[in-house]
Amino acid sequence: MPVLGRDAGDLQPPPLPGVPHSQARDDFQDGKGRGAMDKGGSAPTSVASRGSQLLPARPEPAMPAPQCASCHAARAALRRPRSGQALCGACFCAAFEAEVLHTVLAGRLLPPGAVVAVGASGGKDSTVLAHVLRELAPRLGVSLRLVAVDEGIGGYRDAALAAVRRQAARWDLPLTVVAYADLFGGWTMDAVARSTAGSGRSRACCTFCGVLRRRALEEGARLVGATHIVTGHNADDMAETVLMNFLRGDAGRLARGGGLGSRGEGGALPRCRPLQLASQKEVVLYAHFRRLDYFSEECVYAPEAFRGHARHLLKLLEAARPSAALDLVHSAERLALAPAARPPPPGACSRCGALASRALCQACALLDGLQRGRPRLAIGKGRGGRDEEGSSGPPPPPPGDPGSAPGPAAGGCGAACKERCE
Ligand code: SF4
Repeated sequence: MPVLGRDAGDLQPPPLPGVPHSQARDDFQDGKGRGAMDKGGSAPTSVASRGSQLLPARPEPAMPAPQCASCHAARAALRRPRSGQALCGACFCAAFEAEVLHTVLAGRLLPPGAVVAVGASGGKDSTVLAHVLRELAPRLGVSLRLVAVDEGIGGYRDAALAAVRRQAARWDLPLTVVAYADLFGGWTMDAVARSTAGSGRSRACCTFCGVLRRRALEEGARLVGATHIVTGHNADDMAETVLMNFLRGDAGRLARGGGLGSRGEGGALPRCRPLQLASQKEVVLYAHFRRLDYFSEECVYAPEAFRGHARHLLKLLEAARPSAALDLVHSAERLALAPAARPPPPGACSRCGALASRALCQACALLDGLQRGRPRLAIGKGRGGRDEEGSSGPPPPPPGDPGSAPGPAAGGCGAACKERCE
């Protein structure tokens, strides 16, 4: 039973007074949070189907919820997906924060005195991350800055940025917004999408966006004097990335993807993911019990992304093995590539100095291609010199034909995201 002490027809979280629209309720309704409350890790099931299966013709009296296993005072409100422990909302939030603190301290992710740029998108993951780090900042001895990226996606990013601004004002955190249009010679994601429209390759938007977004966050973090960057990727995000890299045969990214972040090679700022060991279900639950206000619409380009297939596959795996997401994350950490499969050590981009496996880094190559009207050539690479789409698609077009150039490879974050492409 998802919510302890409730019957099958009342599985969703209770309404939250003072919050105009509880996005957590929506996330529960669309299945993102549902399984968190299921006993024994059963497959997520819709309210309607469970209700019709489980509700008897004559409703039985609801079983009273057990006491919280931690404080033994309040009634339990949930069962933790990982441990099965029955906790009240307050004890669950305290445990969640303690686990993030342990992740940061054990991994030595944020040293005392660090100025931390939080990649803020207004979505649930970065909202939870900013809230938890704000709670932990005095103990960690770090200061926080919110950095948001405006990709220039009409009908989507404006509303998400409004949520970030509300958070910054409510939590009294400095906020800086950096825009693609300002950083990349006027290019926005809508403009990039238009340049690939009609080619059947518009699904590549996330690949372009991931490359530019990573660069934009780095620029924004430097602008605010940050020494470290944190992003809100959770265990499910990381497991999806591992699956995507396996499915693409991308040994280089598999080799680089382990651990909780990067130490900042090649002059880049160190990055880490303090929520990497937290499941998406628990992130949604934390947002619910802390009554966090976040933005939960999907980016207009997300439905085309390859990540959606990896996410679907992960859900199927989790139905059979509830620990599949974390197991995949740990598998990637322990992965050892044979010497012949290891990518060559990256060099420096000849234009900007960032890490690059070619003369130009991906961001500079993409911008170069955009200026020349051949955007997709910029980041098209993959096994055997072919990119993901080009390997099965039509042959390369003549120069100057942006509508049918080869598609991009496994570059960028490839996220079907609300916020996890920071
Ligand atoms: Fe960019 Fe994320 Fe939208 Fe893809 S889903 S275009 S990565 S904001």
